[in-house]
Amino acid sequence: MEITGFRHIYSGKVRELYEPIDPKFSHLALIVATDRISAFDHILTPTIPGKGIELTKITNWWLDRIDFPNHRSNELSAPKEIQDRAVVVKRLKMYPVECVVRGYISGSGWKEYQSKGSICGIKLPEGLRFGQKLPEPIFTPAFKAPQGQKDENITYDEVIDLVNEDIARNLREASLEIFSYASKVAERAGLILADTKFEFGADPLTGQLTIGDEVLTPDSSRYWDKEQWDQGVRDQSFDKQMVRNWLLDNWDEKGEPPSLSPEIVKLTAERYALLREKLTTAKL
Ligand code: ATP
Ligand code: MG
Repeated sequence: MEITGFRHIYSGKVRELYEPIDPKFSHLALIVATDRISAFDHILTPTIPGKGIELTKITNWWLDRIDFPNHRSNELSAPKEIQDRAVVVKRLKMYPVECVVRGYISGSGWKEYQSKGSICGIKLPEGLRFGQKLPEPIFTPAFKAPQGQKDENITYDEVIDLVNEDIARNLREASLEIFSYASKVAERAGLILADTKFEFGADPLTGQLTIGDEVLTPDSSRYWDKEQWDQGVRDQSFDKQMVRNWLLDNWDEKGEPPSLSPEIVKLTAERYALLREKLTTAKL
């Protein structure tokens, strides 16, 4: 997509990155959230109408509340025609670590626990059941592999090797702190934040550790309905898991995934909107 005043620099699976043409603003970027959805490292078809707008709203809502430096900048405003799905940000030097925090056991964490009894080198109590709350939230980082390769769970010592000891400690502390705050907020909105992934970078001007990317969205997090979870329901979700489950039922995980059915597209769009509504209209 052509955006006046900006030059395209990168296509992620979901977002498009642009830079201002004016060299005075070369320290900034424009991040545009598309309606694309990815699962199991494939970009799926068709798109989910409205998803990019919902993701942008949810990220902005959280960044307004989280007491930690973030990448948003008001030096420039996003062009009108894409305002509701775009943010102008400081271009960070991103750390190649996906800062995953888990409060409940699920997803790849559940798989690793079943085979090793631990996640990312963190030993867990025996006999945990799927979807169970962990004794305390744990930091379970992954290496953010270059485009096209699969991200891989790593231990805290491997994070130290990738960044350094100080940065690794700061990444872990910031992730756990933001997660703990966000879990409390989500709970007041009737939601369980089971896990999430943050991405941080350094502000090149100040060196300050800064949160980037999307934050606490249904693409980067697992959200469950608290009431249902309390009743023992473990397979419900307000996030991308729905789409993953549909794929597992309709695909052998070989070759290209099938196109999503109109029903699952509609359901996914509705769930993203409902999650945003639950969060942003809750009395906190
Ligand atoms: P990949 O980078 O492997 O394509 P992805 O599919 O998750 O990952 P998207 O989420 O679609 O990518 O695109 C967002 C990209 O922008 C990510 O690579 C993310 O690390 C990067 N990013 C987010 N915020 C910033 C920022 N402030 N400065 C620089 N890069 C950023
Ligand atoms: Mg991403």
